[in-house]
Amino acid sequence: MSSFLRSDLAQLMAYTPQPGHGGDADQADQPTIIDHLDTNESPFDLPDDLKQKLAWHYQHELKTNRYPDGSHGKLKEAIALYVNEAAGLAAQPITPEWISVGNGSDELIRSILIATCLNGHGSILVAKPTFSMYAILAQTLGVPVVTVDRHPDTFAMDCGAAQAAIDHSKMNTPTHTSAPPIRVVFVVHPNSPTANALTEAELQWLRSVPDDILVVIDEAYYEFSQTSVVNELAQHPNWLITRTFSKAFRLAAHRVGYSIAHPTISATLEKIRLPYNLPSFSQAAALTALQHRQLLLASIDGILEERDRLSQSLKNIPALRIFPSQANFVFACLRLQHQQPNSIQPNSIQPNSVQLDSQSYLTDLVNSLRQQGTLIRHTGGGLRITVGTADENQRTLQRAIAYLS
Ligand SMILES: *Cc1c(COP(=O)(O)O)cnc(C)c1O
Repeated sequence: MSSFLRSDLAQLMAYTPQPGHGGDADQADQPTIIDHLDTNESPFDLPDDLKQKLAWHYQHELKTNRYPDGSHGKLKEAIALYVNEAAGLAAQPITPEWISVGNGSDELIRSILIATCLNGHGSILVAKPTFSMYAILAQTLGVPVVTVDRHPDTFAMDCGAAQAAIDHSKMNTPTHTSAPPIRVVFVVHPNSPTANALTEAELQWLRSVPDDILVVIDEAYYEFSQTSVVNELAQHPNWLITRTFSKAFRLAAHRVGYSIAHPTISATLEKIRLPYNLPSFSQAAALTALQHRQLLLASIDGILEERDRLSQSLKNIPALRIFPSQANFVFACLRLQHQQPNSIQPNSIQPNSVQLDSQSYLTDLVNSLRQQGTLIRHTGGGLRITVGTADENQRTLQRAIAYLS
């Protein structure tokens, strides 16, 4: 191994959003229709007339020889307007100084880690299962990750354990053997992959987190859940919200995310990011999406209706346990007593191996669906299924029923 590379990176693997999608499969066996229900995007492309508008902008206004607007001035103004409007904040308290824009919210997560934890300054806390990117990006920066559990029925985080972890981490006087204190708590509202929004008890706990710890509330699914903590932001100078254009705004291809936080935090994130982190065309796409937000967001009601229809139908499969969703995806677990009879040898298996067995059963299920053209995720001990178009959901359902009964 090249000795100039950090040895702690050797055991990390490059991120593959769709594990097992390698180019190994025989092309001839590939299904002709692929339903991409594994990354929680909107099933709808931008409408044609908006694409044409953007194409016109590219042809007549955008200068490819010029660097992008490195201040994101126009975009931040439009985002601030949208944030206030969507939250019904008539006083317009969120100004562009509260906004920072990233190349996807992934970039913002990395900037947050650099700003808070680098050089042994801090560790992060997450409640598993949750969005994997916090821990992955932390590891690439050598930032320790502390994890706590969630309730097996509600997926609410164990706030007592979280508080204990924070207290414990503070008692460590940092040495090269002990982890530095927890500096950031990451939560998702609603969580991925489990689709539950923060409860009042979780919010109460987050309000009590001392102000030497940053609380990051990831609202990637805000437009679907319509729940936000933005109204409380002014009271909590240690809170930061991240959001994205990758989901309800249908712009995953353009990689635009933003954060909302007290101007002091935002100004620091601005120092850390690369100077031209967001290409001109992506900025134009996000601006266009915001200008036409009513049109784009009008698709949400239909997606939520489809979600409820899909959830209801999946509930009719006895082998599956379906959890309530506040987002555009559904989380399902296997009911243990309903595993395939021949995948278990009675009397010879301990609970642990039953767990393992049910996980390998889910892996097989996901592989079978993939071979038929339905891509879903096996993650967090269950299945995360993005809500697609009515046709896509119908195929998901048929294939799941065929496999499980
Ligand atoms: C999809 C998703 C994002 C979006 O990330 P981008 O980098 O903006 O595409 C952020 N957080 C969570 C929890 C997500 O599921």
